[in-house]
Amino acid sequence: MTGPRRVPHGVRRGRLSRVDDVWDLIIVGGGPAGSAAALRAKQLRPDARVLLLDKADFPRDKACGDGIAAHGRDELALLGVPGLIDDHRPARRLEVVSPGGARVHATVARPNYVVPRMVFDARLVEAARERGVEVRRHNVREMDVRGDRVVLDGATVGRVVVGADGANSVVRRLAGLPPSPPRHTAIAVRGYADVPADDDVQFIAMQRDGWPAYAWSFPVGDGTANVGFGMLLPRLRATGLPGRQVLHGRLAELLPHLPARDLRAHHLPLSPGRPRPGAGRVLLAGDAAGLINPLTGEGIYYALLSGRLAGEAAVTAPGEPLRAYRRGLRGALGRHLRTTDLLSRAAQSPGFIDAAITTAARRREVFDLLVDVGLGAGTVPLPLAYAVTRRWLAGALANAR
Ligand SMILES: Cc1cc2nc3c(=O)[nH]c(=O)nc-3n(C[C@H](O)[C@H](O)[C@H](O)COP(=O)(O)OP(=O)(O)OC[C@H]3O[C@@H](n4cnc5c(N)ncnc54)[C@H](O)[C@@H]3O)c2cc1C
Repeated sequence: MTGPRRVPHGVRRGRLSRVDDVWDLIIVGGGPAGSAAALRAKQLRPDARVLLLDKADFPRDKACGDGIAAHGRDELALLGVPGLIDDHRPARRLEVVSPGGARVHATVARPNYVVPRMVFDARLVEAARERGVEVRRHNVREMDVRGDRVVLDGATVGRVVVGADGANSVVRRLAGLPPSPPRHTAIAVRGYADVPADDDVQFIAMQRDGWPAYAWSFPVGDGTANVGFGMLLPRLRATGLPGRQVLHGRLAELLPHLPARDLRAHHLPLSPGRPRPGAGRVLLAGDAAGLINPLTGEGIYYALLSGRLAGEAAVTAPGEPLRAYRRGLRGALGRHLRTTDLLSRAAQSPGFIDAAITTAARRREVFDLLVDVGLGAGTVPLPLAYAVTRRWLAGALANAR
């Protein structure tokens, strides 16, 4: 049995008009975090009644660089959908130019993927549906916690709710939790450009002006590339110019040979080091929990991972899901999140990134480690932190002379 015992008759598009039976888990948002929560819940408890609500119909677009790290692919395997993106070309080469012009160009230890979100998210939602998750189009506006039940929009009742509704999460707000503060929020625009079909280098060009800021080109493998530019929100505001003008202008300036179409921008809630992943029976996952890597802006891996852990907590510990979820997150990402928080503070100085990229260009193991920290759950061993800091200070001293 996949849905609740009593099927609501009054369900209309965008409106749930009568009280449902109680769902074991209601997930708000069908991006990677929400679908991962749904897939995991049904994987662990096939008889669980799981409802996935999204205000959009799928396929739907989402402003994103479309880059899926190898670590994200590992998550797909854990969720029981290992081949979901196997028809896309693996991206093996990565080139990064630091704000001061240091350059590293190398083959990554494990390939990344570039899959337009129009495709990726729809496949995940479909996989959840095939596993027995009830998927409905509905825009959630209200939430009430009544004892051990959570009621959405006065009509849909769940034992646990996972808010996977993205950067501007309504669930987070209704749970009384604060949004990502501006200093931990970035904004980025993405578009698509034509490139040679054999272009397979993921290219990142950092910019000193308004640092931290960077542009990217991620070839999809079909003669197009996802191109974009992002920067911290306070830096954008400090320009005093309209956001669109700054973001579109910088993108054109940094990648002049790749004129972009379908430009679309969105906020990125960057991890502050210690996430607040929910309240009571309401768990937050992915961007709603502010889990984007502050060094790179990557969020899909963290959305899949946190969604998986939230779905797991919801069905294995329905009495105290938040405690189980917190424990899971701490175990999987605790040290990593503290590491990226520390590094992102050091990286406020562009010289630190110059030193890190210079070191990575000379030492293969450092390149691999930086990829792991920027795209996965990696941490930095002390000797390496020491080596980069020494190079950074030496650079700063040389500049001061
Ligand atoms: C320009 C840009 C480039 C990026 N590039 C990359 C990249 O290359 N690689 C990477 O890993 N990350 C990238 N990110 C980050 C990545 O896009 C996010 O981290 C990721 O989408 C988070 O997934 P999510 O499931 O948490 O949220 P989302 O993907 O935002 O999904 C949230 C879902 O919730 C739904 N929703 C929202 N409100 C409601 C509501 N009230 N009721 C019902 N449904 C609702 C939305 O319709 C949406 O489907 C980028 C972000 C931006 C803005």
